[in-house]
Amino acid sequence: MSNRLDWIPVEIEKLKSDGLYNNIRTLSSPQGAWLIVDGKKVLNFCSNNYLGLANHPKIVQSAKNILDQYGAGPGAVRSIAGTMDLHLELEDRLAKFKNVESCISFQSGFTANLATIPCLVGKEDAILSDELNHASIIDGSRLSGATIIRYKHSDVQDLEKQIIENKAQYRRLLVITDGVFSMDGDIAPLDNIFEITNKYDVMLMVDDAHGEGVLGKGGRGIVDHFKLHGKVDVEVGTMSKAFGVMGGMVAGKSIVIDWLRQRGRPFLFSSASTPPDVAACIAAIELLEESTDLVDRLWENGDYFKSEMKKLGFDTGNSQTPITPIMLGDSKLAKEFSRLLFEDGVFAMALGFPTVPLGKARIRVMISAAHTKDDLNLCLKSFEKVGRRLGVIQ
Ligand SMILES: *Cc1c(COP(=O)(O)O)cnc(C)c1O
Repeated sequence: MSNRLDWIPVEIEKLKSDGLYNNIRTLSSPQGAWLIVDGKKVLNFCSNNYLGLANHPKIVQSAKNILDQYGAGPGAVRSIAGTMDLHLELEDRLAKFKNVESCISFQSGFTANLATIPCLVGKEDAILSDELNHASIIDGSRLSGATIIRYKHSDVQDLEKQIIENKAQYRRLLVITDGVFSMDGDIAPLDNIFEITNKYDVMLMVDDAHGEGVLGKGGRGIVDHFKLHGKVDVEVGTMSKAFGVMGGMVAGKSIVIDWLRQRGRPFLFSSASTPPDVAACIAAIELLEESTDLVDRLWENGDYFKSEMKKLGFDTGNSQTPITPIMLGDSKLAKEFSRLLFEDGVFAMALGFPTVPLGKARIRVMISAAHTKDDLNLCLKSFEKVGRRLGVIQ
């Protein structure tokens, strides 16, 4: 018998002994404030369903209607026979919503990054990347073949220093930052970053996955939040989080978007998004354009939860958004905290090393507009109970 795969169980055991093995929980309900997880009804503070749109009746109905008209599958990649009028309508609606010249959609935010970064830079170029950037930015950067230079998290002075040190050696420089950092809920100082990239005339890209539908007027994103319209070269976003569906996008100047249509590899070599997905995304934009109520409620919920947690004596870190980390320090403590919350019917993830720095373990609470005040109060009660029991608060 061959033993060429024996290394895999060895690696799996190593993950388990290092406490890095993913035990994946199973949902048997739609996304929402409440979930059935591993057979238990729990209050959900783990999803990126910021506005509660994932199971919104209007979105579900739009997907159903299009399913009847256009069927289930796209049948081809965008550049051969996969572009339906629906895809173009989505891109047009997105461009209007975001007040940009042009927009291109992708199957996911992850593929949007894999498509975009190699279109902008290659072997002769360098990427200046925030040290806490998302995995899909890191992977897209690696695929591009460009030299990757990390700058200190949201540190504009360090960014400027790196630009000065590296500008002469490379053909082009591209600065990339997350918009909202999902581990801490902090916002990139995009206004100050733009000043620097503009001063040295280097390209700027922001990945606003956690800001799309959350930041800016009615959820128009980080560029709108900082009033930087027309200044940021490339704004990547996702429709898989606040939009409640699945899909990625890039918004910006027409010359950039046209180039991505020609050269973005997931656009050229992976099938188009499905008709129901696209219809659901269009419905999400319609809901966001109709009213800012959901976005307002998301922020109200986030502000309420954070201020009540602080009153209880918890440390909510550097959060500036509805993503609320509860800083606990020790990984084991965070895991035990999360387990006791779950026993009490509250589902919130513990994040430890290496997902976050050593000694900075936390519970991450993802607030949504779907939560009622009662839901938030139940969560606060649970945190108080478990916090006292584990000696985190008095
Ligand atoms: C979630 C996320 C993505 C991936 O988006 P999907 O649409 O889920 O593939 C990309 N970038 C950042 C910063 C993210 O947080």
